[in-house]
Amino acid sequence: MPTDTRPQTGQEALELLKEGNARYVDSLTNPDPCMQRRPELISNQDPLAIILGCSDARVPVEIVFDQGLGDLFVIRVAGNVVAPSQIGSVEFAAEKFGTKLVVVLGHSHCGAVTACVEALINPEQNYSPNLQSIVDRIRPSVYNLHELATANGQDVDADELLDRSISANVRMSVSQLKHGSRALEDLTNSGQLLVVGAEYDLETGKVLFLES
Ligand SMILES: [Zn+2]
Repeated sequence: MPTDTRPQTGQEALELLKEGNARYVDSLTNPDPCMQRRPELISNQDPLAIILGCSDARVPVEIVFDQGLGDLFVIRVAGNVVAPSQIGSVEFAAEKFGTKLVVVLGHSHCGAVTACVEALINPEQNYSPNLQSIVDRIRPSVYNLHELATANGQDVDADELLDRSISANVRMSVSQLKHGSRALEDLTNSGQLLVVGAEYDLETGKVLFLES
């Protein structure tokens, strides 16, 4: 949404959502092939991929991958971190629907990873316990890179540290999903589930899949 048309109050935002839903309901009878699938999806789903992405408003996964209703099983959490509920969600989709692919999707300019980098550079940074729990899950990815960057006593290049931390954080989430439970380990070891990492570039719109 362009900045000059953004709602100024919660009530205005609520109205926009209500209007949007009214358009959605109207569109249910239009010939859009995506919408034609809706009835068959009421009782079943067969997503082609599971995506663990960041909550960031600029990275809506269905739009980024040009997929429609029922195509993606999406888990979004700030910093695309892995906690038990994310592992459980992946297990659910992989076992119930037989989905064969998991993509951990990080992105450039990630606010959650930035918060973690800032907390390391500036230790007196204070976050709420809830946000801190997310930062703590990202921290191991950033910590080693930060230690390496500061080892020679020079100033840390925060932008470079952020970029490298975003990749490291994606790789860590991939590893944590692969080994997060016996069920997921069995599926990945037997070749029934592929878990890959990727990064979305806000500037270009391109998704770069990371080498495993
Ligand atoms: Zn993010």
